[in-house]
Amino acid sequence: MNKVILQPSGNKDAREHYENTIQSPVSMQVLTEYLSEETINQLEAFYPDRSVPTWGVTPGKNNVNVQKWGKIQTGDVTVFSANGQIFASGVVVLKLQHKELAAQLWGYDKSGQTWEYIYFLDEIKQHAIPYIEFNRAVRYADNYIIQGFNVLREELSERILSSFDLKSEIYLPDVSEEEYEQEILQFEDHDNLDTNRSGKGRKEQSFLRRKLFKNKKVGVCGICGNQYPVDLLVAAHIKKRSKCSREEKLDYKNIVMPMCKFGCDDLFEKGYIVVCDGKIQRNIKKSYTPHLLERVAQIETRECKHWNDHTRKYFEWHQQQ
Ligand SMILES: [Zn+2]
Repeated sequence: MNKVILQPSGNKDAREHYENTIQSPVSMQVLTEYLSEETINQLEAFYPDRSVPTWGVTPGKNNVNVQKWGKIQTGDVTVFSANGQIFASGVVVLKLQHKELAAQLWGYDKSGQTWEYIYFLDEIKQHAIPYIEFNRAVRYADNYIIQGFNVLREELSERILSSFDLKSEIYLPDVSEEEYEQEILQFEDHDNLDTNRSGKGRKEQSFLRRKLFKNKKVGVCGICGNQYPVDLLVAAHIKKRSKCSREEKLDYKNIVMPMCKFGCDDLFEKGYIVVCDGKIQRNIKKSYTPHLLERVAQIETRECKHWNDHTRKYFEWHQQQ
């Protein structure tokens, strides 16, 4: 699950950093001088405009920040706070330690440290969330003041992310195949995608979305073939999830495909369209209104790129419902 990173930024250094490397993101040109080609390639995939909101923390006294920074993962949400409110948030894309880059971007603090524990952000949003609202969401005392860099544990983070709608649909936390498997076993009794999408099965959806979209911002609907931002696409099960055996659920490469929220997901799930021999067709068992027929006509006879020898049996199951 995604975590929340508290990043109080009221002091002079932090205010300057926010202006210099978040509000005015760092250009890829500068980063290229310091980072490996592999890292640059990764970053370029996330930042087509080649400007990268960048933040960093110092090791701190007795390296107090190092362990906290170590917990940061892709998809975690940083909240910047100052003057009694959370004023901005951003989603973690990538992190790395780099002293020279940090020194170049921000120099050194009074104790001779630099902000070398770096993380790159995206989806920077402005907010005006007063501390009191934040405190109540986290169930802290009303007069609590965010002090110091910190990475909150998952349970607290979840309260904040859902209270203030800060979750990213693009950058998802790493979920290993083992964790996915565990999740499948643990939630085997959950019988529909809805429980799966909200709350408890998040790891499963995270994993499936990551496998499908690989943290890309844009994906292609497997039904209509249109390109959409990934937050308008779902990882839809071809064979209804609740009817899948454990083995089928674990066959994640074949059991899900991206479908858009502009109707394809629903049309497929409710059986108004089927995929037959690789082609999208209307379902003769269903009754249609003229408007629905118009909609279906737009996608009918399209080839479904996800239909192959491995997925065929799932499409056939779907067709027979
Ligand atoms: Zn679609």
